[in-house]
Amino acid sequence: MDIHEYQAKEILSEFGVTVPAGGLAYSPEQAAYRAREMGGDKWIVKAQVHAGGRGKAGGVKVCCDDNEIMDAASSMLGKKLVTHQTGPEGKGVYRLYVEAAVPIEREIYLGFVLDRTSQRIMIVASSEGGMEIEEISADRPDSIVRATIDPAGGLADFQAREIAFKLGIEPASTQHMVRTLKGCYRAFRDLDATMVEINPLVVTTDNRIIALDAKMTFDDNALFRRSNVAELRDKSQEDPRESHAADRGLSYVGLDGNIGCIVNGAGLAMATMDTIKLAGGEPANFLDIGGGATPERVAKAFRLVKSDAKVEAILVNIFAGINRCDWVAEGVVQALREEPMDMPIIVRLSGTNVEEGQKILAESGLPIIRAATLKEAADRSVAAWKADQATNTKLKAV
Ligand code: ADP
Ligand code: MG
Repeated sequence: MDIHEYQAKEILSEFGVTVPAGGLAYSPEQAAYRAREMGGDKWIVKAQVHAGGRGKAGGVKVCCDDNEIMDAASSMLGKKLVTHQTGPEGKGVYRLYVEAAVPIEREIYLGFVLDRTSQRIMIVASSEGGMEIEEISADRPDSIVRATIDPAGGLADFQAREIAFKLGIEPASTQHMVRTLKGCYRAFRDLDATMVEINPLVVTTDNRIIALDAKMTFDDNALFRRSNVAELRDKSQEDPRESHAADRGLSYVGLDGNIGCIVNGAGLAMATMDTIKLAGGEPANFLDIGGGATPERVAKAFRLVKSDAKVEAILVNIFAGINRCDWVAEGVVQALREEPMDMPIIVRLSGTNVEEGQKILAESGLPIIRAATLKEAADRSVAAWKADQATNTKLKAV
């Protein structure tokens, strides 16, 4: 789960990281009020969306008076911000963060990630701040400093000082840098984060170390024990199809094609998507219904896939081990009885209780296309979808 910049800053500041003074605003008037409240003579108005690259896309604006703040705020609020990280559809801007402008001496990149090779939290930093890490690793790979942290001892002072030294931090700022690094590490570990990124972390003209941007991502599987993090979720920033699925315990990723997929197991879901493509079709989603799926769960998955307006055919592909083909078949029949669907439905069942499953489908009297293998299922789905499209076009012409 991702959170907003202002939320990440609030969390990090509780762990000792210095952030600029700032306030949240939902309207241009409120934005101007926040600046007045804060004092000073220069502010930054920042669109709060779950994506980086806002600066280059017009989502971060420097303002020097009330009018500029209100103009900047009106230009962002209620609009979609398209950055290189959002995809062409962009992300809606409903909240703004108004922040005091900080006098920057130099910008640093600082990231904390999970390194799967060493199975430890890893610090990735670079003296080349302001750029995205992908650009830094392509253009200036030698500027990147890495360090893994021993979970038993945590981030040691000497290790933090070494990183500060490698980044060329002046002795006057070293202590502040050590506090910043240790604060980020503790926030990461104590809150079950999977990523903390501060880009840029800046050294100010008066030698302070301040986080000007902040991004935190949390482990979804740990949210049950981090209710104060879980409540920061902002559904306006998520693909509605995906949040709907997540709320129902289904693992779903929306795609751009038109053949909806209902599959068990992530590996089989990937293989199904590949096979559909191979057969000349485009999958509309990745959906893993998991193991031991009840008929109700299968019916839920059906409703979810169907709710995507792009879906024009649905392929159910189940290789049952822990799952039971009869339950899956019952779920399919239940969903279709509840709400008949005017599109081809293709079902391939294999494994546990397959005979019972086939029998339920056959006896339902519903127009379900059955297939025995994955290849056959994909071929039939694409063929049925094409035939259906042709009929629809003819009907429209008449
Ligand atoms: P994004 O990464 O989404 O583009 P940032 O928060 O990193 O957004 O802002 C982009 C740039 O704007 C930063 O690299 C920094 O140079 C400048 N900036 C952001 N916040 C401040 C601030 N409070 N004071 C001064 N400059 C800022
Ligand atoms: Mg940034």
